[in-house]
Amino acid sequence: MIPYGRQDINQADIDAVINVLQSDFLTQGPKVPQFEAAVSEKVNADYAVATNSATSALHIACLALGLGKGDRLWTTPITFVASANCGLYCGAEVDFVDIDSRTYNLSAQALEAKLIDAEKKNALPKVVVAVHLCGQTCDMESIYTLSQQYGFKVIEDASHAIGGKYKGEPIGNCRYSNITIFSFHPVKIITTAEGGMAVTNEKVLSEKMELLRSHGITRDPQRMTKESDGPWYYQQIDLGFNYRMTDLQAALGVSQLERLDGYVSRRHELARRYNESLSELPLTLPWQHPDCYSGLHLYVIRLKKDVTTITHRELFKKLRAAGIGVNLHYIPVHTQPYYQALGFQAGDFPEAEAYYEQAISLPLYPMLSNDQQDEVVSRLKSFLK
Ligand SMILES: *Cc1c(COP(=O)(O)O)cnc(C)c1O
Repeated sequence: MIPYGRQDINQADIDAVINVLQSDFLTQGPKVPQFEAAVSEKVNADYAVATNSATSALHIACLALGLGKGDRLWTTPITFVASANCGLYCGAEVDFVDIDSRTYNLSAQALEAKLIDAEKKNALPKVVVAVHLCGQTCDMESIYTLSQQYGFKVIEDASHAIGGKYKGEPIGNCRYSNITIFSFHPVKIITTAEGGMAVTNEKVLSEKMELLRSHGITRDPQRMTKESDGPWYYQQIDLGFNYRMTDLQAALGVSQLERLDGYVSRRHELARRYNESLSELPLTLPWQHPDCYSGLHLYVIRLKKDVTTITHRELFKKLRAAGIGVNLHYIPVHTQPYYQALGFQAGDFPEAEAYYEQAISLPLYPMLSNDQQDEVVSRLKSFLK
């Protein structure tokens, strides 16, 4: 099976992890701060907080922004459930904004229309999670302008997008947001097995997220409510979690990060090859906004259903049966049973639902060989003939 995504682990990665295993600290040693510093330098953000997943980073990002009961979080239906669930963890209400028909990202126009309506009902969101689907950024400049106008905070869920750029600057510099989140799950661009990170330029947010990542406990006398009892002393000043990354993971991350640019450029090379070889087929190929240099986590095609006899489901099944590990990113979150029980219905977000009926993620990862890619293309051609 040619998977849709896969990690690349080399000897340097293995050595980096073994070195930690032979060192004094398996967790809470020097590697986590080293990885944080390396990522914040790479993406040009002032502060970085490593976590054990992007999901936990999203959770503490929402809490740091003050999201709670009675508040609202909005995001796109075409994302992994974690981008929405983080709002529910905080006791907030979650709602969705339909997608742009070309980028499949949360539509800034639909957002504006929904904000105008919400303002009348006194139901504006506190946080908007802008997900950079496939690695291509949302229209961040417009979303940022709306955030200033309507007073909401912006989290970029850049789980797909490390190594990409927006208007010539690295994704993660938070020029148009408060916090940006990365995921280091093995299918993503670089990996730490499980792992995530929140980056920001706002010191108070980074301090709050650091506290929440580790039980709400501080050892900083400046932050304590009274003088220290002695060298053993710490204080719990908030209700946090154990969301820490280990040094094993961080060492792998440092090693992987060195190959980030090469990974993203290989993804672009493979995308160009797909673009060329699939252009004659009844497919909508990924459209790239000129403002964006995508991280290209995913290459999503859409089947033009009106000009083919094969159905989306049949094509998907045939590809899988032929050993092509295609996938579908994503099932619209509002159609999940858990969200339906909250009151969402099929039909609520028509662009997202139309996308779901057509989308297929083709294999794309740096170690995918040209030959393997040619195999994917020839299977597609034969099934679409
Ligand atoms: C993978 C992913 C997440 C969750 O990442 P984890 O590190 O697995 O918690 C969140 N949002 C998006 C868009 C993702 O693709």
